[in-house]
Amino acid sequence: NRSILLKERPAGKPVLDNFELRQEEIPTINEGEILLKTLYVSVDPYLRGRMRDEKSYIDPFKLNEPLESGVIAEVTESRNPNFRKGDYVSGMLQWKEYQVTNGNGLNKVNKEQAPLTAHLGILGLTGITAYLGLEKIGNLKPGETLLVSGAAGAVGSVVGQIGKIKGCRVVGIAGTDEKISWTIEKLNFDDGINYRTSENLRKSIANACPNGVDVYFDNVGGEVLDAALANINKFGRIINCGAISLYNETEIPVGPRPEGILIKKSALMQGFIVRDYVKEFGPAINQLSKWFQEDKLKYSETLIEGFENIPQAFLDLFEGKNQGKMVVKV
Ligand code: NDP
Repeated sequence: NRSILLKERPAGKPVLDNFELRQEEIPTINEGEILLKTLYVSVDPYLRGRMRDEKSYIDPFKLNEPLESGVIAEVTESRNPNFRKGDYVSGMLQWKEYQVTNGNGLNKVNKEQAPLTAHLGILGLTGITAYLGLEKIGNLKPGETLLVSGAAGAVGSVVGQIGKIKGCRVVGIAGTDEKISWTIEKLNFDDGINYRTSENLRKSIANACPNGVDVYFDNVGGEVLDAALANINKFGRIINCGAISLYNETEIPVGPRPEGILIKKSALMQGFIVRDYVKEFGPAINQLSKWFQEDKLKYSETLIEGFENIPQAFLDLFEGKNQGKMVVKV
């Protein structure tokens, strides 16, 4: 039974040496408990924040203890009346091949309804983040222009698709031409910009958004956010969902100050943390499932094989190696 621990806190960009693989016995269960076999593990950029010894909206990881993230697992033994052997569950679980829990906080997932990994992606926190970020702050109206960064990533690819469902012009920003083509050809986005090759991101955005940007869904922060703000329309809305370009910085770079633009444009810029809206997860999943069944939302993932490759899959997020949701198959 292998587990993956945080050996040391990364300084700057995380490296494989920050993690440790450990062998232990498969635990036994007591009354009220279940034994879970891990099938799929979600790796997410926000885990980088939990590797810092800093107070945030979620507790930091402890050194020399297993990390945790969204996991899909199978119940292999049960002494808990709410679970049967063979049930599939999703929840926040540790990076272990086998683990024991009392079942609190786990959701059963139905294998017939959608592929199991969809519950880590489009029907899980990824999809919910995209949907509720747009609902709570975006307030999209048909005909408006929605700009999204991290556009070929897990959250961004859902954001853009919801924008199309809502009748918007959708422009994506991502790090390769292949990703941009994929969002246009497969996900129906209207246009896209490669932020790595654009010589002038402000101008590229202005060209791709001839009517300006009404809503900017930001997954990356930094210079991409600066360029998006320079194109924001009067009464525009900016959803600060993520800032991956800053996660590995030891000193936060200073950029142009946003207040002038926000005042001049009467624009709204608001931070968003999906966990603030737990009560609304149920309705959000219902809507996402409906769109998924109707084939209005496409699900895509980058699947990495092997429990031992969880840390590498996590590191690869910062190199843009994923298209859609990054998931490890154990
Ligand atoms: P993604 O699937 O989008 O993976 C990360 C992507 O970020 C990479 O594929 C890469 O794509 C891009 N990227 C990496 N480094 C940089 C950089 N320096 N500058 C610009 N882009 C970069 O991850 P998620 O969809 O899971 O998460 C997207 C964002 O949303 C993250 O910032 C995350 O923290 C945030 N988030 C926030 C939540 C909340 O509640 N606030 C909940 C869930 C996610 P590319 O090739 O395009 O560079």
